[in-house]
Amino acid sequence: MKIEKIIYADNAATTKLDIEAFEAMKLFLLESYANASQPYSFSRATKQAIKEARELIARCINAEPDEIYFTSGGTESDNWAIKGIAFNDLSHKAIITSNIEHHAILNSCKQVEKFGVPVAYLSANNEAIITLEILEQYITPQTKLVSIMMANNEVGSIQPVKELSSLAHYNGALFHTDAVQAVGHIPVDVKKLGVDLLSASAHKFNGPKGVGFLYIKKGTNIIAHENGGQQEYALRAGTENVAAIVGMAIALNNNCKQLVYNSEHITKIEKHFLSLLAKNNIDFIVNGSKAHVPGNISLSIRNADGEMLLHRLDILNIMVSTGAACDSKNTQISHVLKAINLPEEYAKGTIRVSFGKDNSLQDAELIANSIKQILT
Ligand code: PLP
Repeated sequence: MKIEKIIYADNAATTKLDIEAFEAMKLFLLESYANASQPYSFSRATKQAIKEARELIARCINAEPDEIYFTSGGTESDNWAIKGIAFNDLSHKAIITSNIEHHAILNSCKQVEKFGVPVAYLSANNEAIITLEILEQYITPQTKLVSIMMANNEVGSIQPVKELSSLAHYNGALFHTDAVQAVGHIPVDVKKLGVDLLSASAHKFNGPKGVGFLYIKKGTNIIAHENGGQQEYALRAGTENVAAIVGMAIALNNNCKQLVYNSEHITKIEKHFLSLLAKNNIDFIVNGSKAHVPGNISLSIRNADGEMLLHRLDILNIMVSTGAACDSKNTQISHVLKAINLPEEYAKGTIRVSFGKDNSLQDAELIANSIKQILT
């Protein structure tokens, strides 16, 4: 039976805008709309808002304000990190990444390869983890940059970033992490992690779409991503999207303040959901590692059709995903599921249910019961 209100369980694809962020954004769209680069008094409020947003974001990840560079989102931050380091000199030294990265990383790496920069793609283990051992096998003094995501978007596995970054540094390489699925959901402290670069995207942590940031550790030699004016320390030129930047900072601050509460709440929902599926005698595997982003559940159901399940759930007003959002037109088994060697009879029956802070135990019950109903 169709459920009256939409049950949204695709929070790894995007999240609902934080209401406080929305209220704060309105001011900079309708009233304080000045270009922050102008010298007159009308620009004071926008300039100040950008400054405060930078400080707030920096505090959330334990960075310095001038290490935060605003971008248009995770994709741009990832492109900048890879290309900005690959081309910061003419050495053509190598990059190491993994076979479970988001396409923003994988396709940026493909691009730099075309210009003669060698790239090694490390294989994740069956839990979608990049181990120290595999990095150790491939890293050489010729490695310039290691880029390994902090949390995987399809299966949620959290990578040993601290250990990987320290191994990269030991070998003289820089370390970047795509933390798009991590920031605002699990603790992220750039100093403790020891990363040189870190990508984030606002719409994954209840901020607006089309805005994100790249953390660049002071002293990192990276080339400008956009040439033009002096914005973002002349490394990413272009008039700032003030409202979006303000919304991003407020959303991140709110999520970070509620991190423990949200993660306990979401974990309860996740456990309830999985226990109901088991009670319903559904033959499934939960992909990825035990250490995963709360609520990001990649479920592979034996001999089921994930694509069909997604559409049948949609008819009932339940929104889940088959894998990465950007892959939803692609009915083939995703690169991540291939990388973790999922048996064929489970791989095709994969859906990703990603609970967020607005979900409830009742949502978990409705989704679990609907899956049972569809499959029987
Ligand atoms: N990296 C990861 C791990 C993601 O999950 C996503 C979005 O799905 C991106 C990068 C791209 O971020 P954006 O949508 O802000 O471009």
